[in-house]
Amino acid sequence: MAFSNNAKTVLERRYLTRDEEGNVIETIEGMFKRVADHVALADSIYNKEADIEELSNNFYNVMMEQEFMPNSPTLMNAGKELGQLSACFVLPIEDSMEGIFDAIKNAALIHKSGGGTGFSFSRLRPKGATVKSTGGVASGPVSFMKVFNSATEAVKQGGTRRGANMGILRVDHPDIMEFIECKKDTTEITNFNISVGLTEKFMEAVEKGEDYELIDPHNGKSTGTLNARTVYKHIVEMAWSTGEPGIIFLDRINRKSTVPGLGEMESTNPCGEQPLLPYESCNLGSINLAKMIKKGTNGYEVDYDRLGEVVDIGVHFLDNVIDINRYPLQEIDEMTRKTRKIGLGVMGFADMLFHLGIPYNSQQGVDFAHKIMKFIDERSKKKSQELAEIRGVFPAYEDSIFYNEGIKMRNSTTTTIAPTGTISIIAGASSGVEPLFAISFVRNVMDNDRLLEVHPYFEQIAKERGFYSEELMEKIAEEGTISHIEGIPEDVKKVFVTAHDVSPFWHIKMQAAFQDNVDNAVSKTVNFRREATREDVEEVYMLAYKLGCKGITIYRDGSRENQVLSTLKKH
Ligand code: ADP
Repeated sequence: MAFSNNAKTVLERRYLTRDEEGNVIETIEGMFKRVADHVALADSIYNKEADIEELSNNFYNVMMEQEFMPNSPTLMNAGKELGQLSACFVLPIEDSMEGIFDAIKNAALIHKSGGGTGFSFSRLRPKGATVKSTGGVASGPVSFMKVFNSATEAVKQGGTRRGANMGILRVDHPDIMEFIECKKDTTEITNFNISVGLTEKFMEAVEKGEDYELIDPHNGKSTGTLNARTVYKHIVEMAWSTGEPGIIFLDRINRKSTVPGLGEMESTNPCGEQPLLPYESCNLGSINLAKMIKKGTNGYEVDYDRLGEVVDIGVHFLDNVIDINRYPLQEIDEMTRKTRKIGLGVMGFADMLFHLGIPYNSQQGVDFAHKIMKFIDERSKKKSQELAEIRGVFPAYEDSIFYNEGIKMRNSTTTTIAPTGTISIIAGASSGVEPLFAISFVRNVMDNDRLLEVHPYFEQIAKERGFYSEELMEKIAEEGTISHIEGIPEDVKKVFVTAHDVSPFWHIKMQAAFQDNVDNAVSKTVNFRREATREDVEEVYMLAYKLGCKGITIYRDGSRENQVLSTLKKH
């Protein structure tokens, strides 16, 4: 079996079924069989004669071969009593005590099942506004975020995973300055990622150096103005010093909505890759590109035939998940089935580039990203159309852009680039579309386990080309990059680049290349060196805006303690 020790550790700790005493009673094969059998069952809804066994075998094989993995909740919960299979949810928060605490309760139910929740706090009246029923004053979005945060802390997801949230505030909310710095103390609001929802009006005001208006969402009235550049610089300052807030481009997200007739999206899921309507959920799955290659006459090449087949299997799998999913709330059940969004994406992109000999930080790399993601996106749409022929279009079809185009689709979106934080460990792949963090590094797996890893393909090349030695691998682990290390051929250095060898410019170019070819969004962190300036960050934000990204998250090395991934040497 190809599963690494890391994969086995992760699976045993959190995924494999346990008995009442907490003993693991499932094998890895057993887990994939459980998932495959359960997800395949959905075919019988549409065809009593369907060959469920054959389909289940197909699902089982792509997972066992590490070619495709669904998001964690599907692996954990399929075929079990809980049965909640989605990773991504967005919940609305109404501007009332009932509304706020309903959202907290609903989030707790979702966290319990392994899903992550995104919220916009933009509808809440600002701090100091009057509360009619009591005559008191409102506490404002940031103070309520702290309540959400504590609730998340308390749930801890019953031993599976701790809850994750996204908190969004529109830039024209009167409390925006407080929001921007609400995570200044990095020990606060730790169960949230936060992003400022930027509007195009705001971006224009930044470019022109103008003031813009703040609006109280409760009554729609202006409460004053702020200078757009001052606010923008404050966002940059905080992101430079702590990595947060991120930014998302709300108008762009909504302009690209495939179901504009259903209203506005105000938030994304926790890691930003999935903008959703209120009460919508989405299940994700990722193809491991490292497995989609074959030996050609001139070294490795992309195996497009197999990739196409795995896309078809992936879309079929994710569409089935919508039908067999047990949703934590009636509203979520209804919304999710209306739009039938799925998010097929990739992992192992950096691994694939290594095999093809293409540097991540190059135009060739960016062009290749376009090409491969375009192939996946188009093929996924074709498969969704095929499913529509048999199963019918998604119910909100008439509210969608596809209706006008006369294209019958089963799913209102098909593609998303997820971070693949855990499933990439299970599949032994580089995460999502990120460059490798380091050729050799120490991984803090969940809480406190530290494991040293060397990239297997690098090790192989080093042996083949005769520059392998134990000392060298140690040295690489210390440095975190091979760019300054002697004894490694230049052509190898050019291809085996890591996150810090890739300049922010290429990070963004790569994100934009994927964004151009996915319906939803792209999970991506733009890494900066410790020495990067605020101006560098500002420039990259503008570039992300200009290149059509839906949002951006940055991280300057060393700016936050307790990094998930860290090289041995402190940069
Ligand atoms: P995985 O690899 O476990 O499938 P990803 O890292 O790809 O998960 O994250 C996908 C989405 O899953 C996130 O954007 C978020 O919505 C959800 N998610 C991730 N980690 C958590 C967590 N600890 N708790 C709740 N939801 C999470």
